[in-house]
Amino acid sequence: VLALAPVVGADVSVPATGHPAGVSYANLDYAASAPALSAVAEQLAGALAEYASVHRGAGHLSQVTTARYERARETIRAFVGGRADDTVVFTRNTTDSINLAATVVPGDVVVLDIEHHANLLPWTRTGRARVVASRPSIDETLAALESELASSPAALLAVTAASNVTGEVLPLARLAGLAHRHGARILVDAAQLVAHRGVSIASFGIDYLVFSGHKVYAPFGAGVLVGRPDWLDAAPPYLAGGGASANVSVDDVAWHTGAARHEAGSPNVLGAVSIAAAADELRAIGFERIGEHDDVLLRRLDAGLAALPHIRPLRAFDDGVDRVAIASFSVDGRTPREVAEHLSDHGIGVRDGKFCAHPLLTKLGHADGAVRASFGVGTSSDDVDRLLAALADLG
Ligand code: PMP
Repeated sequence: VLALAPVVGADVSVPATGHPAGVSYANLDYAASAPALSAVAEQLAGALAEYASVHRGAGHLSQVTTARYERARETIRAFVGGRADDTVVFTRNTTDSINLAATVVPGDVVVLDIEHHANLLPWTRTGRARVVASRPSIDETLAALESELASSPAALLAVTAASNVTGEVLPLARLAGLAHRHGARILVDAAQLVAHRGVSIASFGIDYLVFSGHKVYAPFGAGVLVGRPDWLDAAPPYLAGGGASANVSVDDVAWHTGAARHEAGSPNVLGAVSIAAAADELRAIGFERIGEHDDVLLRRLDAGLAALPHIRPLRAFDDGVDRVAIASFSVDGRTPREVAEHLSDHGIGVRDGKFCAHPLLTKLGHADGAVRASFGVGTSSDDVDRLLAALADLG
């Protein structure tokens, strides 16, 4: 059996202990927030040592900071394979990016019922969302989306790239083609994809892509929306204030176009710089290496879980779709909280609950929640084996 160390060159900060008794810590909760890469922490410290407010002054530090901030946009555009004219808006996180998107979409939005609440509630509260129930297979699900889009026009199809519950990856290029055939655009919630797979919004035909820094080995507090400029420029500014406005009188205002239109107020420069640093680092490590590492760990976990009769894995689709390194399951006779506490006693950090995806958990027959283990570049096969051994104890 292949033993796997963390991805070479991917240095994450790992706490020495995960338990008051000094048990070493196995962090299996990367899908909630990935620990900062050391390279990101270094860049962040460098930027923190010399920064000032952006776009606000002619002073040297303000210029340096503005250049860093604008360079971060370009790095992120390249990281997601954006088109030259795509707008890259900095936001607080994925949730914020989708709330912003909900203010610019001129029409109905079609969404699936498997989504994280961040890609459901901003749409349903507009009153213009049409929620389609996922079917047992991806093909049937795409057919259901197609018939919804064909039944009456929609402006947007909003889908997750990878489920935060099951890790299942959706076929983005097919979904983009499907949306476009019916005159809709597509927005992709890539929160769970971008740390695991390379993505090219231009070649997949994605119109808008959103993600959060804290899921890609950068700190909390910054996220992005990347996508086509026209709707963004036509919509009212997401926030009103300085930075979004070009000319202001007491009774009139001319708003900027471009990213500035939606970024009023002093932006989170350090968050933006950190996302860019993480993007650079992930590209340097390479998604081929990351993908292989994920696959080996996931196969090891799947095989181990299959040998434990008291474990029930959660899947939304029965046709064996590709998965990122996320696995949710329940344990017969134990509540998710009991399982998570037992694992915590063994120094293993997982997530329990309903993962902000209540409709999906209910649909899968786990309305009371489940347990989720998720991996990243710092995970080793030893971490997986510790999880399996601790779960075996519950049998
Ligand atoms: N979408 C998905 C698929 C997620 O996994 C998450 C985070 N759990 C979000 C959206 C929301 O991300 P954030 O909390 O950073 O806004």
